[in-house]
Amino acid sequence: MHDHYPTSWYAASAAKPKEWPALASDQKVDVCVIGAGFTGLSTALSLSEKGRQVLLLEARQVGWGASGRNGGQMIRGFVGQERVAKHAGANKADAVAALTWAGHDLIRRRIDEYSIDCDLTPGWLEVAMTPRQLAGLYHHYNEMETRFPDRGWHYLGPDELKERIGTDRYLGGLLSQSDGHLHPLKLCFGLAAACDRMGVQIHEHSPVTAIETGDVVTVHTAGGTVHAKELVLAANAHHDLFRRQLTGLAFPAGSFIMATEPLSADRLDRLNPNRWAICDSNKVCDYFRMSSDGRVLFGGRVNFSGHKPKSIKAKLLPRLLKVWPELEDVRIDYEWGGKLGVALGEVPLVGQVGTNVWYSFGYTGHGVNMGNLMGQVVADAIAGDRARFDLLADVPKWRLPFGRTIGRQIVSSAILYYKIKDRL
Ligand SMILES: Cc1cc2nc3c(=O)[nH]c(=O)nc-3n(C[C@H](O)[C@H](O)[C@H](O)COP(=O)(O)OP(=O)(O)OC[C@H]3O[C@@H](n4cnc5c(N)ncnc54)[C@H](O)[C@@H]3O)c2cc1C
Repeated sequence: MHDHYPTSWYAASAAKPKEWPALASDQKVDVCVIGAGFTGLSTALSLSEKGRQVLLLEARQVGWGASGRNGGQMIRGFVGQERVAKHAGANKADAVAALTWAGHDLIRRRIDEYSIDCDLTPGWLEVAMTPRQLAGLYHHYNEMETRFPDRGWHYLGPDELKERIGTDRYLGGLLSQSDGHLHPLKLCFGLAAACDRMGVQIHEHSPVTAIETGDVVTVHTAGGTVHAKELVLAANAHHDLFRRQLTGLAFPAGSFIMATEPLSADRLDRLNPNRWAICDSNKVCDYFRMSSDGRVLFGGRVNFSGHKPKSIKAKLLPRLLKVWPELEDVRIDYEWGGKLGVALGEVPLVGQVGTNVWYSFGYTGHGVNMGNLMGQVVADAIAGDRARFDLLADVPKWRLPFGRTIGRQIVSSAILYYKIKDRL
C-alpha cells in the first residue's frame, strides 16, 4: 500500500504539521474514529471538545483521501436536502433549513478558534449553460433571498457575467458571498493539529483490518488493537468494513483536477478579479477557481472505473479553453484525481450499525461543507443529542442489491445518461 500523497498542487503547497506514528500497541479509549478526512477529523475534534478520549486511525496519512485532493469549493447545503425536508415534515423544516449554513459556520469558527490558515476566500458562483438551468438559478435566487437574506446573493445576467468573469460561455449566474473556497489539505492539516493539541491520539499508516462489535468494539490493525465504547466509521465509500450493512449504498466516483502555472496579476484581474469559485449547473459539472498563488485549478469529468485517465490534461484543458480561450499558452503544472462517495439516494449516508457503531459518508461532491458538519453532528449524537443526526439517518436508504461490480455498472450508466442530458 503506497502511503504518499498524490502529486498535486495541494501537496506541494501545504506544510504537514507533524508525522503521526502507526498504532503499535493495545489501547482503551472512549471513541475510536476510522479515517482522517474531514469527517473523521471533525468528529474527533468535536468529541475531544466534549472531553471524550479519542483515538483516530488513518490507513495512509491525514487528508490522503478526497478531503486532501478536492476542488476546495465550499458549497452550502447538500444534495438531497429537499428529500430530507420532505421526509422530516413541516414541523422540522426549520431544523433542516439550519443545516444549509451550519457546515460553513463551523469551518469559519474553527479557522478562527484554532488559527487554521487554509486560504479561505469568499464567493461561489454557479453558472448556467442552458435556459432551463438559468430559470432554475433565478428561482433559487428568489427563494434564497427570502429565506437567507443576509448571505450576500447576487444574480448576474449574461452581460454582467461576462464583465465579471471574462467569458461568454455561460448564460448567467448566481453568486453567494457566504459560500467560497479553500485549500482543503491545509484545512485537514489544521484540523489534525487542533485534534493533536486537544489530546486526540492520531495514528497514520494504520489500516483497520478487522472489527469485532459488542458492548466494547475491538478494532484491529497490523500493529495493534483498540478497545472503544463507540466506533465512528469515517472512511468514505471505498473500503470493505461492514460490507453486509454498507455495500450498495454508495459508489466511489473518480473526479479529476489540473492546476495551471501561476498567472500574471493582470490576467487574474481580467478573468476573475474577485477570485470567486465557479461551478456550472450540469449534473457532471466543471468546477474551477484561482489558487492563492494565482493558478487556475480546473476540475471535472467523473468516472466509475476507478482508473485515472492517461492524461487528465487532455480531458480538461479543452474544457478550460472553452471558458477562457486566451489561456491557450498556459502551462499545466499539476494533474491529479481522487474518489468521492456518491450516495445512491443522493442523501448523505448517516446511520448506525447496532448501537455503538456510527457512520457518515456519501456527500456526492459537497463534502467540504458536509464532511465537517457531519463530524460535529455524529459527535453530538454520541453525546446524546440526536436531533440533527436523526434528520438524515431516518431517511430511507437506497441500495443496489447486486454487489459492487454490477452496481457500479448501473451507476456508470446513470452518469452517462446525465452527461448526455447535460449536453442536450
Ligand atoms: C477530485 C475531487 C473533487 C471534489 N471537489 C469537491 C468540492 O469542490 N467541494 C466539495 O464540497 N466536495 C468535493 N469533493 C468531495 C469531498 O472531497 C468529499 O466528499 C469529502 O472529502 C469526504 O470526506 P471524508 O472524510 O468522508 O472522506 P475522505 O476524505 O476520503 O477520508 C476517508 C479516509 O479514510 C481512510 N480509510 C479508508 N479505509 C480505511 C481503513 N480500513 N482504515 C483506516 N483508514 C481508512 C482513507 O485513507 C481516507 O483518508 C471532491 C472530491 C474529489 C475526489
